[in-house]
Amino acid sequence: MIIKRNKAELAEILEKERQKGKKIGFVPTMGALHEGHLSLIQASLQNSDITVCSIFVNPTQFNDPKDLERYPKMPEKDAQMLEKAGCHILFLPEVAEIYPEKDTRVFKFGILDEILDGARRPGHFNGVAQVVSILFDIVKPDKAFFGSKDYQQVMVIKELVKQLKLDIEVVACPTLREPDGLAMSSRNMLLDPEERKAASLIPLIMQDAKRLKYEGKSIQEIKDFVNEKLSHNKLYRLDYYEICNASDLSPLNSLNNSVRSISLIAVFVGKIRLIDNLALD
Ligand code: AMP
Repeated sequence: MIIKRNKAELAEILEKERQKGKKIGFVPTMGALHEGHLSLIQASLQNSDITVCSIFVNPTQFNDPKDLERYPKMPEKDAQMLEKAGCHILFLPEVAEIYPEKDTRVFKFGILDEILDGARRPGHFNGVAQVVSILFDIVKPDKAFFGSKDYQQVMVIKELVKQLKLDIEVVACPTLREPDGLAMSSRNMLLDPEERKAASLIPLIMQDAKRLKYEGKSIQEIKDFVNEKLSHNKLYRLDYYEICNASDLSPLNSLNNSVRSISLIAVFVGKIRLIDNLALD
């Protein structure tokens, strides 16, 4: 595996591959890699000739400085995992390489910016759009692979690609889970054993809530159920639990079978904010 820290050198290597007719697959990450990330690498390896992974903890997408400070960093271990997974190129830039000057661009994503993580984490998706557009410009991938665990993020990236008229296929990949059902996340390693145990209830509560849909319960009744379940343990603080139209994330007032619905949750377990989602169809 080639490791590059310099964007011009990376772009040069990739241009040569492109001229040979090779298709580039790209997996942007913030590191502290787990099997979920590696499943994206696998998808890229299967669907492109050259797989590039970037590891960059993007400061502009953190609305909470403490969250940025505590975000786990382990580039050597990550590089070993990527090498073992068969990744071809790792891009590991410093902040100044990505942002030689302050990025002042403001993106508009309409309702996507105003709901769920858009509402709760002001500026987060703008930061995501800034870094992903810069990385896309360096890597110029044919396909880019993202995890559906970050469902709203995938929609933002698809919208970004549309707005910038980029010829990049955005591929949404399934969420990988721990054996107890908790969605894999780099943030899980920040949980202490008690918090980790508490976190495993999140997917179970979401599954139970889904069952209520099939018992004919209303959205409000389902939300009340989730709230009630989480209120049993002081470690939890619910940020949101919403049921939305799966195709555009507009909030739903009622459930019917003609609209695909998805439940999305953000919950603090201790100080650590975890997100997950579950299709309700
Ligand atoms: P991150 O490093 O958290 O920014 O994530 C990098 C990419 O990996 C994003 O596209 C995430 O959606 C994806 N990802 C994170 N967790 C998982 C998971 N459990 N399963 C599949 N993909 C994931």
